[in-house]
Amino acid sequence: MNQIPEVLPDDIHNKTLVSNVHPTDWQNPEPPPRYNLVVIGSGTAGLVTAAGAAGLGAKVALVERHLLGGDCLNVGCVPSKTIIRSSRVVADLRDANQFGIRGPQSIEVDFPAVMERMRQLRARISGHDSAKRFKELGVDVFLGEGRFSGPDTVEVAGKTLRFKKAVIATGTRPVHPAIEGIAEVGFLTNETVFSLTERPRRLAVIGGGPIGCELAQAFRRLGSEVVLFHNASHILNREDSDAAEIIQQSFIRDGIRLILNCKTKKVEKKNEEKVIYIECGGKTEMIAVGEILAGAGRAPNVEDLNLEIVGVKYDKREGVEVNEHLQTTNPRIYAAGDICLKYKFTHTADATARMVIQNALFGGRKKLSALTIPWCTYTDPEIAHVGMYERDAEEKGIAVDTFVRPFNDVDRAIADGEEEGFVKIHVKKGTDKILGATIVARHAGEMLNEITLAIVGNLGLGTLANVIHSYPTQAEAVKQAADAYNRTRLTPFVKKLFTLWLAWRR
Ligand SMILES: Cc1cc2nc3c(=O)[nH]c(=O)nc-3n(C[C@H](O)[C@H](O)[C@H](O)COP(=O)(O)OP(=O)(O)OC[C@H]3O[C@@H](n4cnc5c(N)ncnc54)[C@H](O)[C@@H]3O)c2cc1C
Repeated sequence: MNQIPEVLPDDIHNKTLVSNVHPTDWQNPEPPPRYNLVVIGSGTAGLVTAAGAAGLGAKVALVERHLLGGDCLNVGCVPSKTIIRSSRVVADLRDANQFGIRGPQSIEVDFPAVMERMRQLRARISGHDSAKRFKELGVDVFLGEGRFSGPDTVEVAGKTLRFKKAVIATGTRPVHPAIEGIAEVGFLTNETVFSLTERPRRLAVIGGGPIGCELAQAFRRLGSEVVLFHNASHILNREDSDAAEIIQQSFIRDGIRLILNCKTKKVEKKNEEKVIYIECGGKTEMIAVGEILAGAGRAPNVEDLNLEIVGVKYDKREGVEVNEHLQTTNPRIYAAGDICLKYKFTHTADATARMVIQNALFGGRKKLSALTIPWCTYTDPEIAHVGMYERDAEEKGIAVDTFVRPFNDVDRAIADGEEEGFVKIHVKKGTDKILGATIVARHAGEMLNEITLAIVGNLGLGTLANVIHSYPTQAEAVKQAADAYNRTRLTPFVKKLFTLWLAWRR
């Protein structure tokens, strides 16, 4: 039976969204005797696998129990980046004076309008992931919960889909915090926060990783009082501390209260408020908020798939076990995306889906370890990273040379008033082989692509120094870091030779 998901508020935009990604009148097709590929889950990993395989001529079934598009479209990247854009406008208005613009005396955030803009744009983008579009691409779309029912069958909504190969792309869900009383008082997650139509006056965000940080800053800028809890001495503690520190200072300037390294003991409801009890340095404190947003940790959707009957090993925390070729412990069944990956991003879901098509259908031997995976946290400024951190190189016993270019030395960043941050590039010592890079900048995610390209294309840092960058652009920081590398090639001996040559030529 086609159970219609409820997407709140039930307005025109969400009606459009649902009509695209879970149409109420959808008729599941009649399955053929056998599919080349049955894909369970239609987030980025499932959609890309299904569309790619069908495009190459395979008979493909795609099974989705909730909304096509998965987290990214519905409750992840798309809605978060849309409200982040609104929140950046607030910061720009706030800082307008620095640019010689007398901004309005007070900035009024129309929170319902911000959320409506998000819903409208999400509905518009949802056309890309619509059931109708995938049907037109030649994919059999089945709405309903999928589970393995035999060695080569998946069952969905009363139909049996026989497969030659199957792909598990069921993604993750938010972990519910293990804090006494929190379930009783209630809390938001990424699955519910984008349904808000009223701004929470006071919001506690639990988790200072990428999801918690992006949403904490966005809500603060949109006018909520925000307190961010993180169980380490620094937010975004997987990033280099010099990079994370810049974001932390930006949060403090935004007026976010940071509670670091404290124990959250319990949560209670008092009148209309949710009171969080924390223990910090031996002292207990109570913090009252209107809403709590849990933004720490993801749990893989491994339950209810009957993985046991097909011999697919999994772990309730780590997800489905795969080998280098994304094959599960059952050689006929592959996995892609968040369900099996350490790096849970839309672009890795996409990249692994492409690998699965080649490996599952065409006997390919594409390897997970061959992927170069960049990522970006869309705070303001952003932190983007690719390849190794210095600590990774150290662990592997690889000596590095590091070239850093701060943005307060880059003309365009100065002109833009965006001087915070840096480009940091690590190369293998004594060579120009790029091992990794971190960029902190307002548009770090855009800028990082050049370095990712260099790594994938095996271009050394010396080559980046030879690339003419338009002046003035912030990406010149990459070239300037590369120029710094080039200067190291000018050893005293080489310089002496040049001096002698030039003296002789005078
Ligand atoms: C708030 C937030 C912001 C994010 N921002 C970014 C970002 O800016 N950039 C980025 O790269 N990544 C971002 N991510 C991560 C990104 O959303 C995920 O990495 C991506 O969605 C993973 O895709 P997936 O296909 O593996 O899984 P999912 O998107 O989770 O899709 C899995 C699908 O499987 C379905 N499913 C599960 N079980 C079954 C079943 N038994 N039968 C049928 N269907 C089933 C689910 O309903 C779901 O639709 C963000 C995540 C969050 C939460």
